[in-house]
Formats: sequence, structure tokens, C-alpha cells
Amino acid sequence: MLRGVTEALPGPSAPSPGAPLRSPLGSNLDGVRQHNLGTVLRLVHGTPGRSRSELTRVTGLSRSTIGALVSELSALGLVKEEEPREPTGVGRPSPIVVANPDVVVVTVNPEIDGVVVGVVGLDGTVHRRARHTTDAPPTAPEAARIVADQLEGLATPSGTGLRVAGVGAAVPGSVRVADGVVRMAPHLEWVDEPFAALLEEATGLKALVANDASLGANAEHLFGAGRGIDDLVYFNGGAGGIGGGVITHGRPLAGSSGYAGELGHMLVNSAGDRCHCGAVGCLETEVSQARLRDALGVDDLEAASVDAEPLDAASRREVERQLGYLAIAIRNAVNVLNPRRVVLGGFLGALLGLDPALLDAEVRAQSLAASAEQVEVVRAELGAAVLTVGAAELAFTRLIADPIALQR
Ligand SMILES: [Zn+2]
Repeated sequence: MLRGVTEALPGPSAPSPGAPLRSPLGSNLDGVRQHNLGTVLRLVHGTPGRSRSELTRVTGLSRSTIGALVSELSALGLVKEEEPREPTGVGRPSPIVVANPDVVVVTVNPEIDGVVVGVVGLDGTVHRRARHTTDAPPTAPEAARIVADQLEGLATPSGTGLRVAGVGAAVPGSVRVADGVVRMAPHLEWVDEPFAALLEEATGLKALVANDASLGANAEHLFGAGRGIDDLVYFNGGAGGIGGGVITHGRPLAGSSGYAGELGHMLVNSAGDRCHCGAVGCLETEVSQARLRDALGVDDLEAASVDAEPLDAASRREVERQLGYLAIAIRNAVNVLNPRRVVLGGFLGALLGLDPALLDAEVRAQSLAASAEQVEVVRAELGAAVLTVGAAELAFTRLIADPIALQR
């Protein structure tokens, strides 16, 4: 049976994902200890592990302090120590500290025709990712019930030993992160749905909810095409439209309520069509997966063969039209946010792949020279798992901010 640790995590009134986790130095000894435990856990989370000596070097803490922190995290069941896989030279090898893969987050991503449920370990392993098809867009209570059913499925007669640290949900819409209320998800037809509360009621676990593309941006920043890049802008194109997320100074930009980063509703054509949001000429009305598919005559835009196909004149015109409007959106992001990298996911990655030189030239020609001189436009790396990884991170961020809470 799963052992829930629902009481362990802070409630939905805790700070938004974009807020600082806590001050660098705690206000008292407990605060410092908690901060240091979180620092070590953050360094091993999502990695194959790090040696004690590496942790000592990276944190600047003493060997004995690192030893005490690792022992405490081990006692909390959050990390394990393993012998190094390869000899490290002369002397006694330093054991490798690895995140415990059995501490997991359950993830949810409701879509227009189904719900994707995942299980992700603290070490970054995606243990499971399954799609449950629905005949119509799932309602919020229905999506919560599907997640609860999956939790039952995770239990085995012998017990899996998994410890669930919470539920993280990635929703294609505007989400008030403070209480996990989905204000508007147009393609799901959800308005003011208290999704976090519904998930908590259905599963008995703490649930956190945020906008899908914002979570995707954070996932690419931590584990994908934005690794090591502190300032990036992420555009993700899907069947339902274009979402976005911004990482600035290494942290997700949330805005006052969590709605920041709606890059798909940036104005790119003042003479364009009316968008479902009510405005005219949004990026997602000009650049669309359906129109690109029609122009290219392919079902799967992300297939490797798409960019190798020679294009006829009409297809080429549509590709250039969409690349032109995408360049305008990227120009706006570059001039406003000065990112080091722009990451394009979903069908936008395929669009980039059709003519990367043209998009790069358009972005550079239009942007302020100083703002654009260091920017790179690249394709996302995490593929279909990006929202599962991003949603898991939402709950892991809370756990890392307060590792002791697991035992309270
Ligand atoms: Zn719009």
C-alpha cells in the first residue's frame, strides 16, 4: 500500500512557486539547518547522485556539516548512500549520495480528450506515465477521480514501498497558484474549478496546481534544454494553442497571482483574427499546429522526417508566415526579458526545425541589438514527458524547501 505523507507538506496557502523558498540564512538555528538540508537535497534531486566531497565543495560547508546533513536526510528516508560505481583514484572512495527514488510525486495533466497521470521519483525517474482517454473534455471532479483510481492501482499486495510526497497538476489554463483554483481553462471548459481541493478530497494527498507551460519552462530549465541557464523564455505549441513560461534569475516568473507567461496571447498581428480570449491577432491565432499540419500534409509534426521533406511553394509560404509571426513574438520576449535562451517545445520545435536560420535571422533583424546579442533559439529536449516532470517539480520544490516536514 502507498504510505501517504500528506500532512508533511505545507498547505496551499504557502508561497507561490515563483517566490523565494526562504532567506539564504535562516532566522535561527533550526532555520539554518532546514535551509542546509534543502540545499543538499536540491543538489542531489534529479541527478545520478553526488559524492560527499562534491557536496562539500559546491556548498562551501565543512565536511563534518555535510556528513551530519547527509545522515539526517538519510534518516528522513530522502537520500541513500551508495558505493561509487567507478574507482575515483587513490585513497578511500567517497560514497555517492543519491535521492531516494521511492519518494514520489503523483502528477496530473488534464487534456482535451484525456488525463495523463504520472509517478515521478525524487531522483527524477519517471516511474510511470499513463494516459486515460475520455470521450469528452474531463470535468475537474472526473479528472480528480481518475487520479484517485490510479493511486489504488499503484498499491501491490506486497506493498511498493513508495512514499507519496504529494500531487502536482499541470493544467492548460490560468491557475491561481495560492489555492490551486483553475480560473479559466478554455479547451477543458473549466471556469473557477477548485482543482487542488478536488484532488485533495479524492486522494487524501496534498495537491498543488499550476499552469502547464509555466511548469514546462521550469522542467526544461532544470532538466532539459535550459540546464544551467538562469534567464530563459519557453514557448510550447500544442493542439490547444501556445503556452509559455519565463525563468528569470533562475526562478519561475509567476506574477502576482501566478498568471504570468501567457505568451500565446501576445499581439503579433494587429490586423489578425479574433482569438478565443477576446483580443485580436494573438500569437496562437496566427501560429497554429492545425494550419502547419495542413500545409505540410503530415499528422505528426514532431516526426524526424518533417524537416527533411522538400516543401512545395504553398507549404513554404505557410511555414515562412508562421516563422515570421513567431519571430515577432520572440522579438517582444527578447526586448522585454533579455533571455539567454529561447526554448521552443511541441510543434514550435518542429517549426523551428523547418528553417532555423530564417527564424534566427528574423529574430536578430527585429530585436534590439544589445538584447539579442547573446540569445540562442533552441528546441526543447524533454519531449512528451515535459509536463509530467514539471508537475512533479511543483511538489518536490515544497519538499526540498522543508525536508524535515516529511516527519512531522
Ligand atoms: Zn488571445
